[in-house]
Amino acid sequence: MPEPVDIRVLDASGAPAVPERLPVRPGRGELRYLSMSAVDDIVTCPEKARRRRILRYDWGASGPMIIGSTVDRAVEHWINELLQGRHLDVHAIVDYYYRVALPAELEDKKIGSLAEASFDDPQDNAEVALLGGRRALELYIHVLNGYLKDWEFVSAQEEFVFRVSERVAWKVTGKLDVFMRHRRFRDIYMIRDLKIRVKPMMARAAAESLQGPLYMAGKMLEGKFCYFGYDSINRMAKGKTYRGNIDGDWRDIRYELLHSVKGESFGAGLVRHEVPHDDRLLQRAVRRVEMAAVELTSNFERFGPDHHWPGVGDRNPGHWSCSAERCPFFSACPSGGLLTEGLRRAPQMSDFSAEAPVAHAS
Ligand code: SF4
Repeated sequence: MPEPVDIRVLDASGAPAVPERLPVRPGRGELRYLSMSAVDDIVTCPEKARRRRILRYDWGASGPMIIGSTVDRAVEHWINELLQGRHLDVHAIVDYYYRVALPAELEDKKIGSLAEASFDDPQDNAEVALLGGRRALELYIHVLNGYLKDWEFVSAQEEFVFRVSERVAWKVTGKLDVFMRHRRFRDIYMIRDLKIRVKPMMARAAAESLQGPLYMAGKMLEGKFCYFGYDSINRMAKGKTYRGNIDGDWRDIRYELLHSVKGESFGAGLVRHEVPHDDRLLQRAVRRVEMAAVELTSNFERFGPDHHWPGVGDRNPGHWSCSAERCPFFSACPSGGLLTEGLRRAPQMSDFSAEAPVAHAS
């Protein structure tokens, strides 16, 4: 973990309510880092945050997550080789994807094969995902080669760490998928974040995401002016066209790499979203992290680590994230599956209708 940098800009930070320290987790010591996914958990569902961030329950590995990380590993290897002066062709990197990246990822996630992982989409499975991941990788190497005209790579999967103010002990952390520097304008940098998904990332999700402004803020604090963009690759495109923002211009996306699995055709399609670099957005991102720290510590103080915290299922029933497919805690959660199950068993109007059998006392 690199050393945190000093805070010098972003005067949004340091509101007195922001906790100086984060909760001490039972048997695991003080929580010292907040990542973007931790902030997401805290903001979307406090109960999920309690289970994942305080109690460190295992999240389990989904097939789409494994494929996304496998492609990340292969892209990291390709960039690192390039930084060493070796330009791997697409066959060499595909070979690395199958032979090295996938086994390493399965070992990390402690599962024997991709077929053991779960898949939400009924059309998605190990075979579709593996081939889709390969196509996504091929497409992304093509895209990265295109960036090399104006940019040079600085690093892949680089970690950054910063504190939101000098007053707090905890730090914000994140990883930059691809970090580049402009060839001509040497003090301009660019972060590219690769998202491998079943569906393409929509413009609204990109505009509302915390990640872009937060990561730009992290690099700004190191004195590096940078831009941020998402490269979203849809690995199960099926002949549909999406309106995508490519280099600031809205066009139909063309699927370049098509393949077929058991008679079904899929393809890999790319959508790019550029996040505006604006100091107010950067400040708001830091404030969102601060507010997440406030919420986490106040829930911890009010409910403690061992009792249920109000979940998104209580605040916002039917929220997309609160379902058996999206939340591994659903079946055992009083705000999720346990509640829905209880409601199903509760007496219904029909139990009291005239047709319903009525038990008479003899
Ligand atoms: S089931 Fe719903 S309320 Fe419970 S942890 Fe999951 S998302 Fe939160």
